[in-house]
Amino acid sequence: MMDEYKGIAPKGDLLLLRKLGGVFAGKSFLHVNSTREGGGVAEILHRAIPIMESLGIKVRWEVLTGDAKFFDITKKIHNALQGHPEAFTPDMWAYHEEINRKSTLDLGADCVYIHDPQPAPLVQRREGGTWVWRCHIDVSAPQKDVWQSLKLFCERYDGAVFSIAKFARSMPLPEFIIPPSIDPVSDKNRELSGREIRDSMDKLQVPLDRPMLLQVSRFDRFKDPIGVINAYRLVKKYNDCILVLAGSPATDDPEGAAVLNEVKEYASGDPDITILLLPPFSDREINALQRAATVVLQKSLKEGFGLTVSEAMWKEKPVLGGAVGGIPLQIVHGLTGFLVHSSEGAAFRIRQLLNNPAMAKRLGERGKEHVRANFLITREVRDYLSTWYSLVNPNKNILEL
Ligand code: UDP
Repeated sequence: MMDEYKGIAPKGDLLLLRKLGGVFAGKSFLHVNSTREGGGVAEILHRAIPIMESLGIKVRWEVLTGDAKFFDITKKIHNALQGHPEAFTPDMWAYHEEINRKSTLDLGADCVYIHDPQPAPLVQRREGGTWVWRCHIDVSAPQKDVWQSLKLFCERYDGAVFSIAKFARSMPLPEFIIPPSIDPVSDKNRELSGREIRDSMDKLQVPLDRPMLLQVSRFDRFKDPIGVINAYRLVKKYNDCILVLAGSPATDDPEGAAVLNEVKEYASGDPDITILLLPPFSDREINALQRAATVVLQKSLKEGFGLTVSEAMWKEKPVLGGAVGGIPLQIVHGLTGFLVHSSEGAAFRIRQLLNNPAMAKRLGERGKEHVRANFLITREVRDYLSTWYSLVNPNKNILEL
C-alpha cells in the first residue's frame, strides 16, 4: 500500500510514517464515526485505514448506529455548532447520550479516534487507551448552550483535533490542527491519459474546442454558482470560453433542488454553459473534468475546507477561490492561485489567466507542489499517528523516532 505513494508523496512523510509504524506496529487503533458511506469523513477513513494497516497497526472502524430520532437530533447539534440556531430540550440531550450509552460497540483499543459530535459521548465508556476527539466541523461560533452541553464530553478526551485553526475552540486539553487531505492514487485524483480524458468529455458531451471554466460543487448558495455565471459572462465579452458547473442531483435536499432550478433558469439560453448532474461516485468523471479544465473556480461565500481546491491544484490547474474557510490555506494568493472577492474580481483573474498561459502553468505547477507538501492523505495519517505519539509521551519536550 505504502509503495503506491512512493515518488508521489514527500519522502519525509513516508519515512516518518514508517518510523511511527515501527513504534505502533502490533498496537490497536479504532476509528468511530456515524456513517460508512457518504461525506468527507467516510471518504478519508476508507483511504486512511489501508495505509495504517500496511504499517502493521491493527485498525478497526466502527460505526455508531441510531434511529431517525437520533440523527434528527445530531443534525440539529451539527447545525447549531456551525452557528445556525436550533431549539434544544433536555430530553434531546438525554436521547443523544442514551444511544451512545446503549450501543454495543467494542471500544477496546490502544488509540481511539472519535469523529465528530454524534459519537462524542462514547468517551464515558472509555476503559483504557488514548482517546482523541476529531472534530471535522467549524465550532468557532457555536450556539452557546449546545457547545456547553457537548463540551462536557469533549473535555474528557486526552486530546482534540480540528481541521483548521480558525474552526477550533479552546479547551483544557491538548489540541492539534490537522487539515484534511486528498488521496493522489484514488480514482478522483490519479493520473489519466489524454484518451481517458477525451472519452469522459465525449460521454459528458463537453466540447474541448475552447478554454473551459469549471466549478465542481454541490448546488448550494454558499458555493455561489450564480456568481460564477456572472464572472463567466463578464469574461465572455472578451474571451471565447465555455463554463461547466458540475454537481450531484439533490434529491434528498429540497434547498439543493431549488438552487439547481435557479441556476438552470439563470443559465438558460446560453449553449456554452453546461450544467452537469453527476450521479454519486462519479470520481473518474470529476477527475477528467478537472484535468480538462483551463481554469477552475471555487467561488464560495462560506466554506469548510474546500477539498475541490486541492483536487484541482493537484492536477496543475490555476484555481480561483473565495477567501473563506480553508481556501486561503490552499491558495497562496498570486503563487498557487488567486483569492477572489467578487464576480468582477474573478472575471479579471480568469481573463488574466486565459491571456497568459505561461502564468497559468506556473500557478498550476506551484499549486501541485503545495498540495504535495501539505494536503495529501499520507500527511494526514502521519499527523494522526503523531498526535497519538505525542499524547503517550506527555512530559517530553523532544520526541525521538
Ligand atoms: N463532489 C462530488 N460530486 C459532485 C460534487 C462534488 O463527488 O457532484 C466531491 C468533490 O470532488 C469533493 C467533495 O465532493 O471531493 C466536496 O468537498 P468540498 O470540501 O469541496 O465541499 P463540501 O461539499 O464538503 O462543502
